[in-house]
Amino acid sequence: MLVDVVAAGGVLVLSGAGLSTESGIPDYRGPTGLARRGSGVSGSTPMTYQVFTGGADARRRYWARSHLGWRHIARAVPNDGHRAVAALSRRGLLAGIITQNVDGLHQAADSGVGPGVASAAGPATGPVTGRAALTELHGSLHRVLCLSCGQRTARSDLDWRLAAANPGWDPGSVSVNPDGDAALDDEAVASFRVADCAACGGVLKPDVVFFGENVPPARTRACYDLVETASSLVVLGSSLTVMSGFRYVGHAARLGRPVVIVNQGATRGDAYAAATLDAPLGQTLTALAAAL
Ligand SMILES: [Zn+2]
Repeated sequence: MLVDVVAAGGVLVLSGAGLSTESGIPDYRGPTGLARRGSGVSGSTPMTYQVFTGGADARRRYWARSHLGWRHIARAVPNDGHRAVAALSRRGLLAGIITQNVDGLHQAADSGVGPGVASAAGPATGPVTGRAALTELHGSLHRVLCLSCGQRTARSDLDWRLAAANPGWDPGSVSVNPDGDAALDDEAVASFRVADCAACGGVLKPDVVFFGENVPPARTRACYDLVETASSLVVLGSSLTVMSGFRYVGHAARLGRPVVIVNQGATRGDAYAAATLDAPLGQTLTALAAAL
């Protein structure tokens, strides 16, 4: 079923966290782009837009933890699943890619350059390298947005500025979780210096859609348009728990487009799917690309 649907072309891919787990990135949108579930030492719930914009102390804590965890994200490289999607794109089989991931790994797999380089200029909303259009539904950790003047800059630049603003900053013995998030004590957080916008002095925020924040309406509409022009929708590595992605599955099903879901575990969209495949992404997609 998956091979037949993809071979027919015009496929819209909707990818989620499950596609990046084999790159060592288990989840997204926490301080390091990684939602914290359960037993977090310094807070077990993901950062929300309301908390982040509500106070300087919350932002200081976010950036201190993110500064330590960033290298984990920056080091991540595409896996077999990303490479297989890039191969399908090069062969002209994809109508587009919508990703819920904020790690830049689709671009990195497609272009052969680091995700920071590929996505520093702005949100990906069109062909990155002349292939299927990529939409970063929830933004990218590789960019930083000024909440005052709207300027977008590369996170790699901010990383350099934060390092310069915090010479000798030593959080002591820090436990870094497997997901790269760092548990910091209050003293280490209090001594961390946050950097503001270099252009206007405004508050900087990672260019990602936090929990409690909506996907920009123009981006949402563009994705509905993609569903309407596509021949099918293939979900890769998402449990579809977040409405921002789930709604496109419902839309495709209502339009009579076949929906195929490849994910490890059940998903909220299974009832809409013509076929579901509970299998590892890298292996499955590599076999798919080879079979076409
Ligand atoms: Zn600014």
